[in-house]
Amino acid sequence: MAQQTYIHAGKLIDTKNSKVLEERTIIVEANKISSVEKGFKKPSIDSIQVIDLRNKTVLPGLTDMHVHMEGESSPGEYLESFTNNPADNAFNSVGFAEKTLMAGFTTVRDLGGSGINISLRNAINKGKIAGPRIFTAGKSLATTGGHADPTNGVNAELMGNPGPKDGVVNSLEDARKAVRQRYKNGADLIKITATGGVLSVAKSSSNPQFFTEEIEEIVKTAKDYGFHVAAHAHGDEGMQRAVRAGVKTIEHGTLMSEETMDLMKQMNAYLVPTITAGKEVTENAQIEGYYPELVVPKAQEIGPKIQNTFAKAYKRGVPILFGTDAGVFKHGENAREFEYMTEAGMPVMDAIISATISPAKVLNMETESGQIAPGFYADIIAVNEDPTQNVSTLKEVVFVMKEGKVYK
Ligand SMILES: [Zn+2]
Repeated sequence: MAQQTYIHAGKLIDTKNSKVLEERTIIVEANKISSVEKGFKKPSIDSIQVIDLRNKTVLPGLTDMHVHMEGESSPGEYLESFTNNPADNAFNSVGFAEKTLMAGFTTVRDLGGSGINISLRNAINKGKIAGPRIFTAGKSLATTGGHADPTNGVNAELMGNPGPKDGVVNSLEDARKAVRQRYKNGADLIKITATGGVLSVAKSSSNPQFFTEEIEEIVKTAKDYGFHVAAHAHGDEGMQRAVRAGVKTIEHGTLMSEETMDLMKQMNAYLVPTITAGKEVTENAQIEGYYPELVVPKAQEIGPKIQNTFAKAYKRGVPILFGTDAGVFKHGENAREFEYMTEAGMPVMDAIISATISPAKVLNMETESGQIAPGFYADIIAVNEDPTQNVSTLKEVVFVMKEGKVYK
């Protein structure tokens, strides 16, 4: 028999039924939950470990659907792209992954880096380092000069001519090749930058940057590999093209029209709000020299609007997935997003569901992740208070178990 652990939970968040249960015993066997029972059960064998969380609230490990594990914002970040070697970024990412896990996020979706995020995922899966379960896009796809063109803003000599291998796409053929290259590299999904963005050294924050046919080609090719497609988008036109072409998630969604909101409902596409990133770039843009000159006005324009768009989209019934854009702010502060979501009118329980059950669906882990129930991974966290009474308690996670192993 596999090794068992008993967890005594004072309160337990039942994400499936949107309920707060009291006094439960969770029995963990190897990496899975084998049963959840009423009351505080004692194991029949003395050698079985009992974890006492009787004065805590226990909930499933959280999922952040939008992080960047390879970097973290700082005034020197733009220079680092010239001074850091890939090995430096790789070592940094180890610390970021650990911080994320310790903050209670047992699963994340990495929406773009250089490809180090793929090696990071593998190292975590093999148990070499501590971190969340990672689903990664590898390198994001952009058009020339677009939000994820890796040579934006550099001098002509360094600019070169990046193509589909580097994630730059300008035709249907490039679109196919770029997706297949991501498969070859070991990505789990595809990320595109459907419009301009804030932090790239380029002028527009929100213009459309792909033709509909190009996005359709990406979505169609991705399907062959079982990949879903995530689209970064601030502007409405590019966002709408992406939704019509069949992308699964819209990241940020800043200037979303009501028409696009309705289209998303119809297409069952999700909004990943990243309000925390909006707050952060608004603040940093006020610090002289923090961002390059071209970035500052974009941060001032886009940053303050994200929370309000989220409020409208949620109210209108657009499906929501919890996502922060961690890396644009400090890793490990992901739970700030819960405060901003509830401030914008989303009940805490709905926000928790957007970080547990809903992402599990999109990541094809519906029967394994997002609930504390028999057969699910033993991804279990605890906080001091009942988050439905005090949402801020989610920022202080006191216990973390991932796949049956205690990390905190
Ligand atoms: Zn991002």
